[in-house]
Amino acid sequence: MKLLADKVALVTGGSQGLGEAHVRKLHEDGAKVIITDVLVDNGEKLAKELGDNATFVKLDVTDPDAWDAAIEHGENTFGPIDILVNNAGIDIMKPFIEFTGADLQKLLDVNLFGNFYGMQKILPSMKKAGGGSIVNISSLEGLRGTAGNSIYNASKFAATGLTKAVAQEYAEYNIRVNSVHPGAIQTPGVEADDIKDTVQNYIQNIPMKRIGKPEEVAKMVAFLASDNSSYSTGAEFIVDGGIMAT
Ligand code: NAP
Repeated sequence: MKLLADKVALVTGGSQGLGEAHVRKLHEDGAKVIITDVLVDNGEKLAKELGDNATFVKLDVTDPDAWDAAIEHGENTFGPIDILVNNAGIDIMKPFIEFTGADLQKLLDVNLFGNFYGMQKILPSMKKAGGGSIVNISSLEGLRGTAGNSIYNASKFAATGLTKAVAQEYAEYNIRVNSVHPGAIQTPGVEADDIKDTVQNYIQNIPMKRIGKPEEVAKMVAFLASDNSSYSTGAEFIVDGGIMAT
């Protein structure tokens, strides 16, 4: 029997990049997957490719009403949701002094409020169902500070705090909440022109001397989604080629 047979998973930002890899891995491991994203065409194409055990619904994670609609669609299609992967995230890089309040608000809306709404909306049904696993995709930048990345650092650290506190509150209900902290991973997000130089510099400092593959992060997500990680909650799981060990 497959690792995630009979499980239902919702992935945010699932149309491309890391989110797409999580969707593919969870699906391969037997889960029925609700793909969500603001990027509609890619998401619908992916759901079609994966067939009966996948569905797409548009979800802007900053919109609480859209969460209600996406969860309703997912539950009507596949039944109660066992796994939530809060993957959608954005970054803006520039010197600290140049950031505006609007920049910070934009990042917090997606990287922090997205996780906040997602967990608040899914927890009642997970509690009723007797358990679940929430995986919040953070970053190495949720564990340390990096010049030029200050407000992303702030948003990811804040999300890590949320992960740990919610894990404490819901441990008794058999609901686990963990965070995954990837290093640089080959996705459209790291191919943006404005961060190409930063990524090249980054590689020099990675003990494995390479950027990670989305599938390498997705394997960690599937592990945390599954009962194989049954005694882990409120914890940080690093997927970074060794950089945080330096
Ligand atoms: P990506 O390639 O940019 O994909 C993110 C997806 O989320 C895109 O489809 C994006 O749509 C969507 N999205 C953006 N805002 C959204 C919103 N408000 N609601 C719903 N979906 C939204 O990003 P990625 O590199 O795969 O990153 C995924 C996650 O991993 C993020 O949380 C990121 O912080 C984290 N991470 C990534 C890396 C890396 O190296 N790639 C490293 C560490 C952590 P649009 O493109 O239309 O905006």
